[in-house]
Amino acid sequence: MIKELTAVEIGKKIKAKELSAIELVEELNNLRLQNDSIVNAYTNFDIEKIRENAAAVQKKIDCGELNSVLAGVPIGIKDNICTEGELTTCASKILKGFTPPFDATSVKKLKQAGMIVAGKLNMDEFAMGSTSETSCYGAVKNPWNTNKVPGGSSGGAAAAVAAGEAVCTLGSDTGGSIRQPASYCGVTGFKPTYGMVSRYGLIAYASSLDQIGPVARDVRDCAAIMDVISGIDGKDSTSRNYSSSTSFLDSLTGNVEGKVIGVPEECFGDGVDADVKQSIEEMIKEIEKIGAKVKTIHLPFIRYAVPTYYIIATAEASSNLSRFDGVKYGFRSDNASSIDDLIIHSRSEGFGQEVRKRILLGTFVLSSGYYDAYYNKALKMKQMIVDGFEKAYKECDVIICPTAPMTAPEIGSSLEDKMKMYLSDIFTVSANLAGLPGLSVPCGFDKNNMPIGAQILGAAGEDRSVLNMGYAYQKISDYHTRRPGGIR
Ligand code: GLN
Repeated sequence: MIKELTAVEIGKKIKAKELSAIELVEELNNLRLQNDSIVNAYTNFDIEKIRENAAAVQKKIDCGELNSVLAGVPIGIKDNICTEGELTTCASKILKGFTPPFDATSVKKLKQAGMIVAGKLNMDEFAMGSTSETSCYGAVKNPWNTNKVPGGSSGGAAAAVAAGEAVCTLGSDTGGSIRQPASYCGVTGFKPTYGMVSRYGLIAYASSLDQIGPVARDVRDCAAIMDVISGIDGKDSTSRNYSSSTSFLDSLTGNVEGKVIGVPEECFGDGVDADVKQSIEEMIKEIEKIGAKVKTIHLPFIRYAVPTYYIIATAEASSNLSRFDGVKYGFRSDNASSIDDLIIHSRSEGFGQEVRKRILLGTFVLSSGYYDAYYNKALKMKQMIVDGFEKAYKECDVIICPTAPMTAPEIGSSLEDKMKMYLSDIFTVSANLAGLPGLSVPCGFDKNNMPIGAQILGAAGEDRSVLNMGYAYQKISDYHTRRPGGIR
């Protein structure tokens, strides 16, 4: 039964005493046991602890102490977001056995709202990837076709929702890691404006780009989760208060009358699958019918977005990941006779190949002879992207384009052609470079019955407009309600 309901609907049933948090986690666990030996969405699921938490939450609901919209609803957490006393490993050998002594602010807020943290979710190692194949726990499979990848890096977060093994999840998005797996798995994923959600407790990949956000069954669930996790936090100096008198959930009116949708010509050219193009174009026509206006716009900077992103992201990663030295956390190599040796061996053995490659690349672009040629140039390009979007939003309220140029590729194919994989981030990375909100909603299927996602982007702080556009579309479409058949 919980497979068919959204988080908000489940919350209502709990309030009406038609469902209990205790039954829910049992049902969820059964779905997980049925599917996860194949899907591999979870890195850790401590059922005893989850049962205990569910019982404690249900007690508080029964005595009226907890009555928020999502009280009693279970939520899975990506394995790079710290959960107190529970393994948090970034799907990396180097963090093997690491249990943080604190909760990330977003997790703390979920718990305060009475949500039940139910399991940690598989991902690309340190969130570096677009396919969820680089995890030390093995690749995640796409529930629509288990020969295909679920996208990445929040592949576990999206696959778990698609497979019914999670009601909703928290992911992180540095260059598309919430939106692209949501698109590949036929679920809804939202990356908020930079600073809207505290990053405290999110293990950093590229701090100026990272943002936590929800993956869920529909836009309403994403909005309800945003109501819980958003807000300024004294523990994250980059967090901001984008105050509004209406909650995210209440701002979903479904009215888009007169709103102008910008359609960037650059996102519909060569290199985008025909099925993807067609689905997005049809979606835009449907939204036009309910009163929105459509305008062709230009985002000429898009072609520079991927190189800019990979310079800035790897530069920041090389610095952020220097803390993993085999001394402070997790894995320590046995093959060392001196302190230098210990650090070298622990890092060489603890990090996977993709992470090591990115640390090297980041160190290179920051090194004295090359800093100006690469890192500084990338920073200038980043500013041009910010300015370019600002100009675009003078002409339109939101932008709609494909989330990714294609649907989910076969497992293994991307690791053979990394450049192709990096280039597939073309439509998502700009939003991170400019700090803007982006939503991916299901909008069709390709000829092989794999889901297609449409991306809705907005200006900084316009998260509610972005979500409302997605909500308006979900009111007139049913792609977001479709689920894969039996998982094999
Ligand atoms: N695919 C991108 C990368 O590998 C984005 C990852 C992310 O958003 N965490 O860097």
